[in-house]
Amino acid sequence: MKRRNFIKRASLTGVGIAVGSTFIGYSKTPFKNSLKNKATLPLVIATWHVKNATTKAMEILQNGGTALDAVEQGCMVEEADVKNQSVGKGGLPDREGNVTLDACIMNKDGDCGSVVYLQNITHAVSIARKVMEDTPHVMLAGKGAEQYAYDLGFKKENLLTESSKKAWEEWKKESKYKPIINIENHDTIGMLAIDKNGDISGACTTSGLAYKMAGRVGDSPIIGSGLFIDNEIGGCVATGLGEEVVKTVGSFLVVELMRQGKSPQEACEEAIKRIVKKPNSDYKNFQVGYIAVNKQGETGSYSIHQWFSMTKFQAGVNEQIQSDYFLKE
Ligand code: ASP
Repeated sequence: MKRRNFIKRASLTGVGIAVGSTFIGYSKTPFKNSLKNKATLPLVIATWHVKNATTKAMEILQNGGTALDAVEQGCMVEEADVKNQSVGKGGLPDREGNVTLDACIMNKDGDCGSVVYLQNITHAVSIARKVMEDTPHVMLAGKGAEQYAYDLGFKKENLLTESSKKAWEEWKKESKYKPIINIENHDTIGMLAIDKNGDISGACTTSGLAYKMAGRVGDSPIIGSGLFIDNEIGGCVATGLGEEVVKTVGSFLVVELMRQGKSPQEACEEAIKRIVKKPNSDYKNFQVGYIAVNKQGETGSYSIHQWFSMTKFQAGVNEQIQSDYFLKE
């Protein structure tokens, strides 16, 4: 099954943030002095099957680059790939036919930057990095983000490729613009890396849900939801129905669960269960997936439905790993 086909529809009902009293008593830096697997560094993991992206990121890391450079340049590979219809150039548009991008980045010092509803610029992740490094802000949206990109020297581009335009036109015929959330053809590219120094960074980039309402922004540019890094603990990045990730502050939750001592795998599983167990959760009809890494270089990934995968490049092996998932029936 193609990754883009495994969600058919979504419900946006239900509210709740599941960060509660279980956080009492955590050990603040459980992994600080226990970087046992130093030999396995550097490493990079990414959502989905993106070996070209992890190859680029690993090349940067092997050449002594930082985790921050690695995740930015790894994500850029997918943003530039017009065959990838969920990211950057070639991304599927909203229901008005506009391709709008969301991206964010976070470094080892806990600094972060993001862009939302960015149009006409392929490398949203690079603008997010510039927001982090060169502005007093964390997030730029819409026209302001686009103007900032031009000020930086980025060129205006038409992101709507012929094939994405054709898909949108087909969708219009079928849907007749009914106000339903159609979440086919979505997948954030999220990447987490640990460099040779043991420092962690992460980034994610997406064109969001295909045929979303104009103006819709998902989880991917929301720090703590689509991405979170704590260099003493680890990092997490999300993909799937952003509305559900935002409601549970998913990536922050995974990192906090690792802070309490859970492995990346256990933390991803717990965060998925928080979504599934919400009152009135319509989880059978939407997908969410998390990948995570801890300071020791252990990784995990988990999703609600089958067919989510993680690409992992570590110790010379660049492999796609099918993730375990909640809904077994
Ligand atoms: N999380 C993204 C969003 O909701 C889309 C995806 O990863 O599939 O915009």
